[in-house]
Amino acid sequence: MRRPLVAGNWKMHGSRAENARLVEALIEAGGASASEVVVCPPAVYLWETARLIKGEELLLGAQNVCAETHPGAFTGEVSADMLADVGASYVLVGHSERRALYGETDALVARKFVATQAASLTPILCVGETLAEREQGLTDAVVARQLDAVLAVAGIRAFRRAVVAYEPVWAIGTGKNASPEQAEAVHAFIRDRIASQDATIAAALRLLYGGSVKAANAAEIFAQPNVDGGLVGGASLKADEFLRICAASG
Ligand code: PEP
Repeated sequence: MRRPLVAGNWKMHGSRAENARLVEALIEAGGASASEVVVCPPAVYLWETARLIKGEELLLGAQNVCAETHPGAFTGEVSADMLADVGASYVLVGHSERRALYGETDALVARKFVATQAASLTPILCVGETLAEREQGLTDAVVARQLDAVLAVAGIRAFRRAVVAYEPVWAIGTGKNASPEQAEAVHAFIRDRIASQDATIAAALRLLYGGSVKAANAAEIFAQPNVDGGLVGGASLKADEFLRICAASG
């Protein structure tokens, strides 16, 4: 049985005061979901958020990580060991905004995935196609390429301690979510691809959907057999909305 997971990606939003209000509201309503719930604040707020959620059911995730595993001359970067040190459990790896805006290649994403696991953190590997790629019928090919790049470097066994998020780029922050059927088709494709290397690992792997998830559409997306929860951006900044999404997941 795969325990559902909902991760809130706050992106570059928030302030100390806003974060405290949001986290307090989530904690107050705690127990609304049987799912694992993860909040991913900007790096500068991780430590304080870790203290706010200490002793609570909420878990902490980072939005990005440096691919380098040793301390050194990497100005501006944050290592996986540092993320673990401040209490993170999860790391988003290969979010489409990192790929598109910061030039993260499949190869770099694979290194970040490995660095995350080396610090005993769980990567949430984000994959997904652009609108142009979908229109050209390339969805499966793009997702396969992104997955295979990580499989080639990390190996199939690494997927025992990983989560994969399918996030069609055309659905992120646009208000246009994939239909439940579209999401399920790609999730089934991802699970089959992992199963072609190890059926047991594939059966246990949690696959999240991300892209304009909101309270109004969460239940029907999460009801799909291969959807094990969600990666939620905009709607994770509103406590009520996020809680309703979490409640719909498990
Ligand atoms: C995301 O940031 O990963 C995301 C899915 O954003 P949104 O829910 O706002 O589309």
